Amino acid sequence: MGANRQKSVDFRGRYTPEAAGAAVSGAEDPVGSRSHNLLLRRRASLMQEPVLVLNATYEPINVTAVRRAMVLMLKGVAQAEELHNSEVHSASHAHRVPSVIRLLAYRHIPQQSRALSRKNILLRDRNTCQFCGGVFPSSELTLDHVVPRSRGGRSSWENLVACCYRCNNGKGDRTPEEAGLKLARRPRPFTLHTSRQLMRLIGHRDERWRKYLFY
Ligand SMILES: [Zn+2]
Repeated sequence: MGANRQKSVDFRGRYTPEAAGAAVSGAEDPVGSRSHNLLLRRRASLMQEPVLVLNATYEPINVTAVRRAMVLMLKGVAQAEELHNSEVHSASHAHRVPSVIRLLAYRHIPQQSRALSRKNILLRDRNTCQFCGGVFPSSELTLDHVVPRSRGGRSSWENLVACCYRCNNGKGDRTPEEAGLKLARRPRPFTLHTSRQLMRLIGHRDERWRKYLFY
């Protein structure tokens, strides 16, 4: 009997750490679901991560989001050249997330394929007011006609710049010279060269992009 009791003490002694471990992991269940939510949020932001798009010739042509890149891969339009460390899971598979994809068929990119739009002008000017040099969120920027429309200024790449509301109000219906303002730089069309510069900026975060961008 005495031996049995001793044995059960030993048994309990060995078992206790495991039991405690089980209790701890049980207590962690609410934490577990919180980290699951965090995982879902991370996954949602992962799908928005930038992916470098290369032409069939390995020339960088665009930056897109993981979600769009994976659609192109599933359609057989592009293949992954570099992979992210993360993966996303569908019902049956784990997919490595691409960091760089390449189009399988060559796509001709016209020199000035970018549409003249508010979004693209803010992108060209890097959300920087071209008069005071301040960087603003898109919602706090407007487009300024350098030569006012009332003076015959056109809505073109060369005459539209990103401008904060304060500078825009200060300038009014005047030319920069008349308002005593100076343009940070001469506005140019959004060319492939500009896109490459932007890709370089974004690509600084991802080492896997370097060999395609710095050639
Ligand atoms: Zn400004």
